[in-house]
Amino acid sequence: MSSTHPIKIAIIGGGLAGATLMNALLKHPHLDVDIYESAPEFSERGAAVGIATNAQAALDEIGEPVSSALDRAGAVVMATSRLCIATGSNALDVLFDLAGEQRGKVVHRAALLSELLRPIDKTRTHTNKKLSRIEELSGGRLRLVFQDGVTSEVDAVIGADGVRGFVREHILGADHPALRAQVSRFKDSRALLPMEEAKAILGAEYFDESHRQYGWIGDGGFFMHDVLDNGKTVQCVLCIDTAEAWGSDAESKDLYRSLLEQALANWTNTPLRRGIVEVGTFYTLKAYAQSHHFVDAPTYAKGHACIMGDAAHCMTPWQGSGAGMAIEDAMILETLLREVTDPAEIPAAFRAYDEVRRPRTQRVVHSSYGTGLILSGRGSDTRLDKDKISQALPPRWGFIYEFDMKEHKRDALTAFEGLS
Ligand SMILES: Cc1cc2nc3c(=O)[nH]c(=O)nc-3n(C[C@H](O)[C@H](O)[C@H](O)COP(=O)(O)OP(=O)(O)OC[C@H]3O[C@@H](n4cnc5c(N)ncnc54)[C@H](O)[C@@H]3O)c2cc1C
Repeated sequence: MSSTHPIKIAIIGGGLAGATLMNALLKHPHLDVDIYESAPEFSERGAAVGIATNAQAALDEIGEPVSSALDRAGAVVMATSRLCIATGSNALDVLFDLAGEQRGKVVHRAALLSELLRPIDKTRTHTNKKLSRIEELSGGRLRLVFQDGVTSEVDAVIGADGVRGFVREHILGADHPALRAQVSRFKDSRALLPMEEAKAILGAEYFDESHRQYGWIGDGGFFMHDVLDNGKTVQCVLCIDTAEAWGSDAESKDLYRSLLEQALANWTNTPLRRGIVEVGTFYTLKAYAQSHHFVDAPTYAKGHACIMGDAAHCMTPWQGSGAGMAIEDAMILETLLREVTDPAEIPAAFRAYDEVRRPRTQRVVHSSYGTGLILSGRGSDTRLDKDKISQALPPRWGFIYEFDMKEHKRDALTAFEGLS
């Protein structure tokens, strides 16, 4: 039996996951969707995000207005990428160049979010609305209680509320071992340098017209630099395996010269190593822990609620896939909710979503961490062996990039039929 009223859906969280899903669902008149963000305004922190080819395909499947959002936000195809080894007897050798055709697009986060928000009717976007409780009412309806006391009754809630959100707790329970993200052993720090400064500190030979990205595998760490702003700025990222270097699981740590020297103590003393220390001390940096949902959640759905994006599967950034997985989540949720004609079908739709999305996204969480170990010279089979690393790394991206979105959508619909 079809519902005579539109199905009322609340998306919690206005990051890239929530904003992408909002656009996807708004195309369907039988869905009445609002988006709630706890912060005073919708915003994205950080400079750039890479949107890989699989996520671009998912955006195309969702269609307008999201399929053109990347281009409207000024995304550019990523420059070629060169992986090198920074330490040992082969220090400064090139391992391999990543093929140009595998590259995604890189975009400023704030610009992408702004383009995703632009098409949304402002009466449907709500800021300063921190969800603090979900009450289950009769007939499957939910009452959402926000911190300011405002309530809203809905047929479904989708938690796109990030790694510290609330909806995961509603689904898993407050004591579940998979509830909280773990602080991984990696901390990373970023610096933005004017091009001339970067050339002087790191060596002009790494900065030519090709604007190539460089990744350097170290002994217990990884250093990366790439060119932004049409060649005006260089972004440097240093990831340290702090389990060895600092032995601390604090979430952030000021980076001082002595700590950097300590973190790079095992790296061969090359001009690059000295440059990395200089980058870190010249610009006052902070190192932030990389968190991930390393304990697998047994489900992403409960009744009329589900989670997506970082709320479901926060991952370390080594394979650059967190936002991409959130976009794929949005594609599958739209595929399923388009078919839902009565609120009573929502639990089956969310279970189908869980069935197809959880295995893939949890695999990326673990693969990303394993990739981090290899890239920081700590892979158990690869360590700092140049040939083994060169063989082990390239295949790790295949299952992420070479993925058929149309088939994924069909699998979701088949699962939904089986559960309805
Ligand atoms: C260093 C780094 C580099 C990365 N690089 C890449 C990359 O190149 N490619 C890629 O695909 N991914 C990358 N990622 C991952 C990507 O940034 C994230 O996966 C993605 O931004 C998550 O989006 P989200 O919307 O799920 O979560 P968030 O961006 O965390 O958004 C959640 C929103 O929910 C709000 N919220 C929280 N609690 C509540 C509540 N109770 N009520 C209402 N609102 C709430 C928050 O304020 C926030 O706005 C990277 C991550 C890091 C850390």
